[in-house]
Amino acid sequence: MAIETIQQRFSDRLKTRRSEHLYRQRPLAFGPQQPQMQINGLCCINFCSNDYLGLANHPQIKQRLIAALQNDDISYGSGAAHLVTGHHLEHHLLEDELADWLGVERVLLFSTGFMANLAVLETFAQKGDVILGDKLNHASLVDGALHSEAEFKRYPHGDMTALEKRLQQAQAKEQQAVIVTDGVFSMDGDLAPLPEIQELARKYHAWLIIDDAHGFGALGQEGKGTLNHFNLETDCNTLQIGTLGKAFGCSGAFVAGSETAIEALIQFARPYIYTTASPQLNAVAVRQALRLVKSADKERRHLQELIQQFRQGAQQIGLKLWSSPTAIQPVMLGASETAMRWSEELKQKGFWVAAIRPPTVPQNQARLRITFSASHTVEEVDALLQALDEIHRQESSAKV
Ligand SMILES: *Cc1c(COP(=O)(O)O)cnc(C)c1O
Repeated sequence: MAIETIQQRFSDRLKTRRSEHLYRQRPLAFGPQQPQMQINGLCCINFCSNDYLGLANHPQIKQRLIAALQNDDISYGSGAAHLVTGHHLEHHLLEDELADWLGVERVLLFSTGFMANLAVLETFAQKGDVILGDKLNHASLVDGALHSEAEFKRYPHGDMTALEKRLQQAQAKEQQAVIVTDGVFSMDGDLAPLPEIQELARKYHAWLIIDDAHGFGALGQEGKGTLNHFNLETDCNTLQIGTLGKAFGCSGAFVAGSETAIEALIQFARPYIYTTASPQLNAVAVRQALRLVKSADKERRHLQELIQQFRQGAQQIGLKLWSSPTAIQPVMLGASETAMRWSEELKQKGFWVAAIRPPTVPQNQARLRITFSASHTVEEVDALLQALDEIHRQESSAKV
């Protein structure tokens, strides 16, 4: 590789990205995060946030924050890492409350889900081990696996025969296997077959790491996530990772597991040790959010009703849906250019829906990723279906 300027290295790559319809831009949002938003100066209904329970702008969380600041016994910033002086009483109470909610021995807070995944994989999968990951796992799980010193193998999405084969290979080589999967797949909305995965993990003495970023809050009793949705119990060889920026409407993440597993992270996980603790005030907000998550049965029911309403309507229109029972409903369109055009047309009609393109999803699987929130109304979903119907008709007649 020749010595070159930054300009030389990137100008062609940036141009190619544009010509391949893969260029990414950051839409500029105004005002609070909620279904009715102004994005890039356009008033629209937002159908692509992960705020599944509508907590991001919840009045009770805002009031709790105001009260905490007025009490004057809390700051915004945390000042240092958890192991220095950053571990505030509010963080500590939040960890205990999350552990009680999930019925696990302990919970550890992280600043982001991305860092939690890096930490878990680097720490638990060591040299000589093998990580077995679903092909559609989140990017942070892939990066965590690549950072770790373990061997990394992927199995086709949800393919239990392939997973068992890799577990047998690991057993033959006397390798510790670490199975890693999203609970709810972030771009497809479908669920990992956790009953089968847990059975295989136990049969082969593998450890199981479940990233339930989109399950916690949205699925299970009291929003206890995908394991709970399947009526499964966790065990001492299982770790669950949750994010607090999705259904919790705040920011940050947590790892839930055994006393030993959490102590191992505190002692050995570099992305935990060498970073500033999240703001004290975030812990205050999340504690209030947790109370709301637990009691949000009505919201979860409403969300399910919106999902059913959408799926029925979309099938009538003739859209290509995925087998997703969750608030993530992809509409498969294939070419990146098509996905961009649909997203643009929806914008013109007042709906913000992100087009998801490679490399986030496989080649020729570009899609609209429509997400629902309990704060959407039946009327808003009807209006979205109406707009999709119009675009679908227009596209079909253009093809003939
Ligand atoms: C969003 C997401 C993450 C990352 O969490 P952040 O807190 O946003 O960094 C990790 N895993 C999955 C499956 C996600 O969807």
